[in-house]
Amino acid sequence: MLNLDTLWAAPRHVVAICGGAVSGAEAAAFCASRGMLAIVFEQNTRPYGKIEDGLPRWHDKLRAQEYARIDENLSRQDVLFVPRTLVGRDIPFSELATELGLSAVVLANGAWRDRPLPVPGVEAYVGRGLAYQNPFVHWFNHYEDVGYDGPQYQVVDDAIVVGGGLASIDVVKIINLELYRAALAARGKPVSVVELEHQGIAKTLAALGVTQAELGLRGATLYYRRRTRDMPVATPKDASAEQLAKTEGVREKLIAVLAQKYLVRVAQCEIPIAPVVEGERLVGLRFRKSELQNGKLVELPGSEHDVRAGLIVSSIGSVPEPIEGIPTKGELYDYADWSTGQVRGLPNVFGLGNVLTGKGNIKDSRENAREVSQSIIEAYVGAGEAAGQRAEGMMDGAHERARAAAHDVVANAARQAPLPPERVRAIVNRVQARWQQVGYAGDYRGWLAAHPPS
Ligand SMILES: Cc1cc2nc3c(=O)[nH]c(=O)nc-3n(C[C@H](O)[C@H](O)[C@H](O)COP(=O)(O)OP(=O)(O)OC[C@H]3O[C@@H](n4cnc5c(N)ncnc54)[C@H](O)[C@@H]3O)c2cc1C
Repeated sequence: MLNLDTLWAAPRHVVAICGGAVSGAEAAAFCASRGMLAIVFEQNTRPYGKIEDGLPRWHDKLRAQEYARIDENLSRQDVLFVPRTLVGRDIPFSELATELGLSAVVLANGAWRDRPLPVPGVEAYVGRGLAYQNPFVHWFNHYEDVGYDGPQYQVVDDAIVVGGGLASIDVVKIINLELYRAALAARGKPVSVVELEHQGIAKTLAALGVTQAELGLRGATLYYRRRTRDMPVATPKDASAEQLAKTEGVREKLIAVLAQKYLVRVAQCEIPIAPVVEGERLVGLRFRKSELQNGKLVELPGSEHDVRAGLIVSSIGSVPEPIEGIPTKGELYDYADWSTGQVRGLPNVFGLGNVLTGKGNIKDSRENAREVSQSIIEAYVGAGEAAGQRAEGMMDGAHERARAAAHDVVANAARQAPLPPERVRAIVNRVQARWQQVGYAGDYRGWLAAHPPS
């Protein structure tokens, strides 16, 4: 058990971190390794963020590995974990930014707010035909948990996913995996979604001697507003014409493998423009075709057509949740310096990880476009060990970037005087008061053991 008295034995820097997942835990461990005290506020009971709730659960090995990495970072001496504490509600951001007199505040709270689908009037149908990616993937990862009380989704045939980025590929796969799992179970051929994902749907059906036609399923369709070769996947930095052509080829290959292996259909150059409603429910979307003319996306008048679907999932990106006191610019926080993530007007507040760009940062992780492309294909529609290794490689990138960003935070904090022991003590007292409120006894491993993954 932690001896709190040792924490304020001498002057030191104290850093508060909002969010305890990959980026937050990495930043906390880095600060602690430099003699600072790191306090990690996490809204959830468990700290794993996207790894637990956003990365589809078929990444089983990667998940276990990432849990262990986060645990190792958060159970360090000089890292105080504060679960069930939403910054902006349970502790005001102003308390962290000013009142507590901290050396620095790190925003590592990720990107959890779905970008609204830009179709007038469609928002009224959330839960009545329309779903958003973040709660949908959360449901997929957790609906079998004992005590799951989140939203429920009925996966039906002929669903539509509106998107185009990597997350939308996960969503469309989830729908088909659920669909075929249920159809096979109904025929007395039970297969788990994880097995189905690892083997691929087409291969599993062949092995079981069942055809798609016999099951009578059409599967889900991904609707993308541009051409598949323009998808925002594996975008190389400062690409030459040759690199760009290669990248376009990779995107098309990704979609071809998705179709072949997971029986997903893709409709390109389709822009959703209006809801199709029957009674109280959204039963489809009206699309208009698009075309690329001289590099510009142009909508084609007169090409409007309705597509009916029992389930429509919007997966067009995630952005950080607004928090009172943090300045915003558009849908992101407002940064004075993008390289350090320093928030405008708040010299001691820094964003890092997904919160910075609202993206998984995969595309920025390597300079070499070809390597990124191959990694993405393997990680998203690949098979077996190679897929696992590619996904692990991507996660290594996320850890590395968090450490590098934490380096800047530490350097900035170190330019200021360390906090006197009585200030450190007052901050720790505040943490203890919150611990009491949430029933946390200061023992990270004990807490996780009492709140295990499902
Ligand atoms: C195969 C593969 C697929 C991937 N797919 C995706 C993907 O689809 N989307 C994606 O973004 N990344 C994806 N990634 C990348 C990777 O998962 C992320 O970059 C990384 O996990 C993000 O970590 P983070 O700590 O920055 O954010 P998060 O994991 O989002 O962590 C943020 C934490 O902050 C907490 N939090 C939020 N708000 C508050 C608050 N106000 N107060 C306190 N706590 C708060 C959250 O509960 C959460 O624990 C993928 C990686 C791989 C390998």
